[in-house]
Amino acid sequence: MIDAAHETIQSGWYLRGRQTEAFEREWGDYCQAPYTVAVGNGLDALRLTLLAWKILLNWSDGDEVIVPANTFIATPLAVSQAGLRPVFCDVNLSDALICTETSYLESLLTPRTRCIIPVHLYGQLANLDRIYTFAAKHSLQVLEDACQAHGAQSIYNNVYKRTCAYSFYPGKNLGALGDGGCITTSDKELSTLIRSLANYGQSEKYIHNYQGVNSRLDELQAAILRVKLRHLNADNHRRQQIASYYASQLSEVNSFHQPSAIMDGSHVYHIFPFLTGRRSQLQQFLDRTNIQTLCHYPVACHKQKAYSSENHLTIPNAEFWCQHELSLPISPVLSDEQAEYVVASIRMFYQQ
Ligand SMILES: *Cc1c(COP(=O)(O)O)cnc(C)c1O
Repeated sequence: MIDAAHETIQSGWYLRGRQTEAFEREWGDYCQAPYTVAVGNGLDALRLTLLAWKILLNWSDGDEVIVPANTFIATPLAVSQAGLRPVFCDVNLSDALICTETSYLESLLTPRTRCIIPVHLYGQLANLDRIYTFAAKHSLQVLEDACQAHGAQSIYNNVYKRTCAYSFYPGKNLGALGDGGCITTSDKELSTLIRSLANYGQSEKYIHNYQGVNSRLDELQAAILRVKLRHLNADNHRRQQIASYYASQLSEVNSFHQPSAIMDGSHVYHIFPFLTGRRSQLQQFLDRTNIQTLCHYPVACHKQKAYSSENHLTIPNAEFWCQHELSLPISPVLSDEQAEYVVASIRMFYQQ
């Protein structure tokens, strides 16, 4: 990374250059996606895609986008900031992924529904077969929020026309040393419009067809990401090893059903979720043994003040996850000894 940064600094060219172009090509190849547009962050990847569809497909302000209620706030914010309305939907109790039961999804449809955003939460792919079938039936666009799922293998690359949004926030499976984001898509026209919107709505220098924004991946971050991309598969494999160990060791420690480890390459364990009825006690106990944990997420989107008009809603499974989820340490640099210490500490907590 230091060599790559050095070379980029020496090059004297810091935005919209060789590194970004090369990264777009390499990330596109890795994802098996025909078109790739690098942008400033994950929120912009989602927001600019929605804005581009709004223009291309003549959507109106206030048109609706179905979004799971248990996700990072960026997902619904992208919808709101594109002038659209998030319609919060529930997730599965078993895996926290968007609920794809047909009758349930149909109950959320109105004449203004335009799009559905499955979030590949915690690193696991949502049920894309069902989502694309549902979307095709009701003429909806599908925008995959893949900000937590870099490298989650999809058998759908050649089956569906897909559009995915990625974030390269430092803590993601593929993270820069600052902000970054990207859209991969099989839709050429969409990619061209997103590229223009991300660059002040320019079609050529100083000719502006749209009121665009400034959202760029810089050359230094692109150079860093190119180096880290070469390690992504190995990093994800290490995450899967840790997840498999946690799942085998912790499946029976409490009364909640714990998700079992999925090792087919479709789950890259951005997060390892552990469900517990005594979350704050367990978190405090682990904190005292120097094990840091987080909750993803403590408050569902529809219960946030930022979405006060939706606060009255009850979305049961999303709320269950928000009340019981605790994220255990997982990362490519976690050692076997550290993972064993986490398991031993959790066992100790439950034996008290
Ligand atoms: C991180 C994340 C985002 C936003 O990414 P930023 O780069 O921080 O803007 C969007 N959606 C999900 C699910 C995320 O985890």
